[in-house]
Amino acid sequence: MSTHVDILEMARQQLAVAAEYLELDSGLHSVLANPQKRLIVNFPVVMDSGAVQVFEGYRVQHNASRGPTKGGIRYHPDVDVNETSALAMWMTWKCAVVNIPYGGAKGAVKVDTKQLSKRELEKLTRRFVTEINSMLGERRDIPAPDIGTNAQVMAWIMDTFSMQAGHTVPGVVTGKPIELGGSEGRVEATGRGVVVALEEAARTRGLDLGNARVVVQGFGNVGATAAKIAEEAGAKVVGVSDALGGIYNPNGLPIREIFQRYAGREGGIGEYPDAQKVSNQELLELDCDVLIPAAISAQITADNADRIKAGIIVEGANGPTTMEADQILSDKGTLIVPDILANAGGVIVSYFEWVQDLQNFFWEESEVNIKLTKIMRASYQAVDSAMRAHKTDMRTAALVIGVKRVADATTRRGIFP
Ligand code: NAD
Repeated sequence: MSTHVDILEMARQQLAVAAEYLELDSGLHSVLANPQKRLIVNFPVVMDSGAVQVFEGYRVQHNASRGPTKGGIRYHPDVDVNETSALAMWMTWKCAVVNIPYGGAKGAVKVDTKQLSKRELEKLTRRFVTEINSMLGERRDIPAPDIGTNAQVMAWIMDTFSMQAGHTVPGVVTGKPIELGGSEGRVEATGRGVVVALEEAARTRGLDLGNARVVVQGFGNVGATAAKIAEEAGAKVVGVSDALGGIYNPNGLPIREIFQRYAGREGGIGEYPDAQKVSNQELLELDCDVLIPAAISAQITADNADRIKAGIIVEGANGPTTMEADQILSDKGTLIVPDILANAGGVIVSYFEWVQDLQNFFWEESEVNIKLTKIMRASYQAVDSAMRAHKTDMRTAALVIGVKRVADATTRRGIFP
């Protein structure tokens, strides 16, 4: 989504660092550096005006060695197939780091959903699913929500796939509404997992979360939930933003009120009056203890890394920090809890949703949250131990664990024929 950072190249460089630690064979390294399948589709939609518009979309499956592939579908005007491939690769490592039995995938359509009516959005979704239908399946590839998509879009995906299968297939997609086989706790899962990661990071750094000042970039599903749960955990959320800009109040912002009254308004959360307005770039550099980037990729770069004051960064978004910025921040002693660990809560509860759908047996929210928290804490601690053992940063440690699990599975399966 970023125009100046090649996200696929960034994902490949991260893989190369892990490959060196693991002394991966060069053939195996090339297998992991490339997605297994990429489909590019161009498909027409009859708009409300009667005019036909053609949209470009992608589905990328990176690696299926550990199970069916899993990954969100993003609707955004700046997506491209390389970025989608990078996101699919990160999904592979993410599922492996938290040890759930999936490979990675991602999908996207180049579209500005703000320009579409609800009917147009439904038609676009149904036609896109029809175009990529052969790649999907509850045992094959299972989409989920991402930027620009939500539970309603997942419901249309499930319905469209089911119409073509001739029977209802709830397990083909996760993040569905509860009444269609969605899971309790899924909507909040990523933000909740981000805060579990933050609690663990605060503990290892001796930071009292009750006195911590937190800044969150992005006030969508991940950012708003993380801000709300961090506030419930006692932290003072001093800055938040959406695509239109940010707000800052050193005394703390009432997150629940901002969520209920200002999120989703045309003027954005910037309409909240009792705060100073800041740009998204200024927001990242605010005086705070914890920064949670939860919007888009490549926000923390060589251009601003040395001005970032937070001692802990918990990556809610995928790929918010470039490799140059990683280096600058780690030299400063900033702890970065990497995306493939920090935001894994979403795919963990997606996995729970899929298990519930396959069994037709549904769990209470408390059970979902307890199981999510347990996996997040254990995964955090495993990555933390690997970081200490390898004397490296947390991203490299998480990649070493994730890439090793995928490499081992790929090697054990062997190469067909
Ligand atoms: P969302 O669409 O619900 O929210 C995105 C938020 O970011 C909105 O507040 C939007 O206004 C803001 N935003 C958009 N462009 C921006 C910009 N240029 N600068 C600042 N803010 C901007 O999306 P989401 O589901 O919350 O996803 C956010 C990030 O988290 C993405 O990187 C996504 O890949 C990642 N993620 C999401 C999930 C999930 O379960 N939803 C899971 C893992 C990772």
